Amino acid sequence: MPKVKPQADCVELVTAKGAYRASYVIACDGAVSKVAISLGLSPACGKPVFGVLAEVDARELPWTMDELHLFYDPEVLPRGYAWVFPKGDTVNVGWCCGLEYFRENRRAIAKRTASWAAPGLKELPRMRGGYIPAPRDLDKERLIQGRVLFAGDSAGVVEQWFYEGIFLACWSGYLAGRAAAKGRPKDYLKEVMKGPHGYVYYAAKFARSRIRTQRPCSRWLGSV
Ligand SMILES: Cc1cc2nc3c(=O)[nH]c(=O)nc-3n(C[C@H](O)[C@H](O)[C@H](O)COP(=O)(O)OP(=O)(O)OC[C@H]3O[C@@H](n4cnc5c(N)ncnc54)[C@H](O)[C@@H]3O)c2cc1C
Repeated sequence: MPKVKPQADCVELVTAKGAYRASYVIACDGAVSKVAISLGLSPACGKPVFGVLAEVDARELPWTMDELHLFYDPEVLPRGYAWVFPKGDTVNVGWCCGLEYFRENRRAIAKRTASWAAPGLKELPRMRGGYIPAPRDLDKERLIQGRVLFAGDSAGVVEQWFYEGIFLACWSGYLAGRAAAKGRPKDYLKEVMKGPHGYVYYAAKFARSRIRTQRPCSRWLGSV
């Protein structure tokens, strides 16, 4: 676990490989940010979601896959959804839902999702997953801690409809790096509020209305 010690003119980092000093540190170490823990901050996760995915050999499926399928069923996947889409020779099958529900029901969810996404398959192979932050809004006070700037999942910058975080991690990381390079960390807050913040805030509002309105087992198909 790295130790992060903010000083007036720099940040000291103590890691297993040695001690370092940096003018600024950009924390982009994921939802369970060790930098945040070291600074005594709570995770920026809100009420987190847990996501799991598996890659199934396309030859094991009884059909040719050339579409993106999304499955919504609030009974099986509260606050989440399941997906299946082609990825070269494999098919990416996964789902996410409220962490509290995932803990209790992971076997039932896996079985149900496999039956939607890959009929005929008894179980999904080599599943891997992780926490997905689901804040209602960005915590503006937390984004900049002196000379430490938080970006991506470590800042909770995740779009709350599909829980997409890759482009927002790249975007917020870029903005943090640019502000640090200019020696103007407060620019980061301004830029984040102009751009990535909208994806978190409005998608979270939209997602709450989805929870109220979605019909069980509604299915949306779209071409990719
Ligand atoms: C199952 C699942 C499916 C998803 N699907 C999508 C999708 O289709 N599209 C999308 O946009 N988003 C998706 N997401 C969300 C997306 O993965 C994240 O929002 C995004 O990866 C966040 O990027 P990040 O760089 O902030 O954090 P991460 O990708 O978590 O990267 C953090 C990095 O920091 C490293 N790290 C942590 N601690 C230390 C340490 N002490 N020392 C050194 N390194 C450290 C980690 O090893 C990791 O490489 C999905 C998430 C899950 C769980």
